[in-house]
Amino acid sequence: MKIGFIGLGHMGLPMAGNLLKAGHQVCAFDLNADALRAARDAGAQTTRSPREAAMGAPFVITMLPAAPHVRTALTGDDGVLAGLDNGAMVIDSSTIDPASAQALGALVRERGGAFVDAPVSGGTGGAAAGTLTFMVGGSNADFERARSVLASMGKNLVHCGPNGMGQVAKLCNNLILGISMAGVAEAMSLGVALGIDPQVLASIVNTSTGRCWSSDTCNPYPGIIATAPAARGYTGGFGADLMLKDLGLASDAARQAHQPVYLGALAQQLYQALSSRGDGQLDFSAVIRLYSQSATKPAS
Ligand code: NAD
Repeated sequence: MKIGFIGLGHMGLPMAGNLLKAGHQVCAFDLNADALRAARDAGAQTTRSPREAAMGAPFVITMLPAAPHVRTALTGDDGVLAGLDNGAMVIDSSTIDPASAQALGALVRERGGAFVDAPVSGGTGGAAAGTLTFMVGGSNADFERARSVLASMGKNLVHCGPNGMGQVAKLCNNLILGISMAGVAEAMSLGVALGIDPQVLASIVNTSTGRCWSSDTCNPYPGIIATAPAARGYTGGFGADLMLKDLGLASDAARQAHQPVYLGALAQQLYQALSSRGDGQLDFSAVIRLYSQSATKPAS
């Protein structure tokens, strides 16, 4: 089946690769010529605009940085909506705010198309392995329809409710993740400053009530988990700037719902501080650098 794919970055390229492996024809568009070249090398057909990528495709997937990019790609002069076939479905897998997802869904429906928000978790590793979790917001019928395509890129497909609820699930998950990573970084740094061996501390935490993904899989202290970004100078993984973006989205959504996010606001400031010192491209577990400069600095 022909699938339009807009946004071939860290996530989009491997996701499109899995669609190709499943036998689909991928019509790719990205503003970045290198990204487009990589898509062509992977076997995709490249196009000159989102409109061209959408033409004749029953499904169009967007995997873009933030809401303004998705809006431009869909509604620009040469955007997806200018080329979308009647009845075709747009699947937006970018992480954006729930209100924008709902507004974009309404726009797509006005043009005779269908829309689901389907943000992901699982990172670049999950994108490459085809094991992403998709959190889907849309009608029951649209979820069932999207399933056939999403199953080529992910393992867990969860229907979260109507348009926008996929984004709500994603933002709440990342709110916990951003806070828990800062908590583990703070505790590991305190323990080491008080004299305990970091390996001993981590093994206690990971068999005790402090255990979480940030402690047992992506522990921010170097030398604890061999496969964690902390073991390779915080390269790869989930960028601190993306976490900062997601915490900003959570705090905006909380303001609209008149709901406090005390810890989320504090965590947002921590990742802002990390970004301001030039470390925004590092994995978000580098937040420990705000606590343990000497242990986490790259060797000179
Ligand atoms: P990325 O920056 O690597 O890729 C985005 C791509 O979109 C780039 O190639 C860029 O050139 C392209 N682009 C930007 N504006 C465009 C436009 N108007 N038209 C066409 N192409 C355009 O980002 P990513 O890491 O792939 O993340 C994409 C989304 O997935 C983000 O919303 C992010 O929050 C979310 N996400 C990322 C991860 C991760 O681990 N990287 C995990 C889960 C979710």
